[in-house]
Amino acid sequence: MSRQSAIVLGAGMVGVASALHLVRRGWSVVLVDRREPGRETSYGNAGIIQSEAVRPYAMPRDLDSFVRIATGRANEVRYRLMSLPHHVGPLLRYWWHSAPARHRRITLAYAAIIAHATSEHDVLIRDADAGALVRHDGYRLLHRDRAALDEAVAIAEANRREFGVQFRVLTGRELAKAEPILKDDLPGAIHWLDPWTVSDPGGLVAAYANLFCRLGGTLLRGDAQALTQTSSGWTLATEAGRIDAEAAVVALGPWSPDLLRRFGYGFPLVRKRGYHRHYRGGRTLDLPLVDPTFGYAMAPMADSLRITSGAELTSPEAAPTPVQLTRAEAVARELLDLGTAVETTPWCGTRPCTPDMLPVIGRATRHRGLWLNFGHGHQGFTLGPATGRLLSELMSGEAPAVDPSPYRPDRF
Ligand SMILES: Cc1cc2nc3c(=O)[nH]c(=O)nc-3n(C[C@H](O)[C@H](O)[C@H](O)COP(=O)(O)OP(=O)(O)OC[C@H]3O[C@@H](n4cnc5c(N)ncnc54)[C@H](O)[C@@H]3O)c2cc1C
Repeated sequence: MSRQSAIVLGAGMVGVASALHLVRRGWSVVLVDRREPGRETSYGNAGIIQSEAVRPYAMPRDLDSFVRIATGRANEVRYRLMSLPHHVGPLLRYWWHSAPARHRRITLAYAAIIAHATSEHDVLIRDADAGALVRHDGYRLLHRDRAALDEAVAIAEANRREFGVQFRVLTGRELAKAEPILKDDLPGAIHWLDPWTVSDPGGLVAAYANLFCRLGGTLLRGDAQALTQTSSGWTLATEAGRIDAEAAVVALGPWSPDLLRRFGYGFPLVRKRGYHRHYRGGRTLDLPLVDPTFGYAMAPMADSLRITSGAELTSPEAAPTPVQLTRAEAVARELLDLGTAVETTPWCGTRPCTPDMLPVIGRATRHRGLWLNFGHGHQGFTLGPATGRLLSELMSGEAPAVDPSPYRPDRF
């Protein structure tokens, strides 16, 4: 019997992991990207495999948060007035899905798939021989006032009771002992113990892509926008010539809806842009530290400290305005000596967030052999191997390890 064949579009964490799972199941797979693997969103993130993130980010619905965001005082979220018409439909749906009862159902679906995040990465990390990039010591969430810390601890305790995620509460002194470069007069932190952290997120995707090639997969350069349906499946012109396959997988992260629009699908996306910049020559942290008061993260990378910013709601073509990153840098400098910025222009990329905060995984409704895996929002680096497995199980007709119904594409 001939092998089933697939073209996987997009070599970010999600596409590479999907391609790997298909190859392992005996598929003949060509993975196509216009760049090297792991050079876009899956490169620019904070590198945290966030197995503790059982509750996806809901849109704040309280008046205080609304006023802070509307008046530009919130650093975790910023919007550009000019781009609001672009966002208004997806944002209204995001607001609707963020109501407590709906968010509760979404959390159960999210927690079900994120429970597989580290175990699925583990298999790939071992097989890709990428263990040197990964630490298993968790990360810390700093709180700058007592009330915020108490509130965060209460939520963490609820998550521990219901989902089994593990954490420790650190006093300011314990935090300063763990990270001696920090001041010791901070109220404290939550140390999430289960997450893993990666010192080169793009490097991990590249290592997975190498594994894919070692297992017999083919990696090619090409433009996904050239994808065309044929009588027997799908075809694409690549730099190495035309390729044909029975199935096509769209794993183009924030670019996925652009391609799917050509086939008549209107997937809504809340595009949350994030920025990062590296710092060298100062002090660095032992583990990543997230400072939710100002909506940024500091992540020690291989040769520098990376600061990642919160969410900017802006249109895809808008010029960079790294206001949040500039503010984050200023408050981070109050905590530690960052040294000097490496890049003059910060990196930016888009978290591909769906209005109901869940990824889109499964078969496209109106095209035979067209499969989707995108919309991983704030945790695609975490989720790629788990959702890649789920997609490949569905494509191969296997009983999936996780109930796929909350992620099905026809909900939009
Ligand atoms: C600042 C920031 C911090 C983050 N921190 C974390 C974190 O700590 N942990 C976490 O889990 N997640 C984090 N995320 C989210 C995470 O990075 C994303 O969810 C994830 O990388 C999405 O992966 P992806 O494979 O879907 O998309 P991508 O990595 O963007 O991959 C899509 C691929 O499609 C390719 N492509 C696009 N268009 C075409 C075309 N026309 N033809 C060919 N190829 C094309 C691109 O080149 C790219 O390689 C963060 C995101 C940001 C912005």
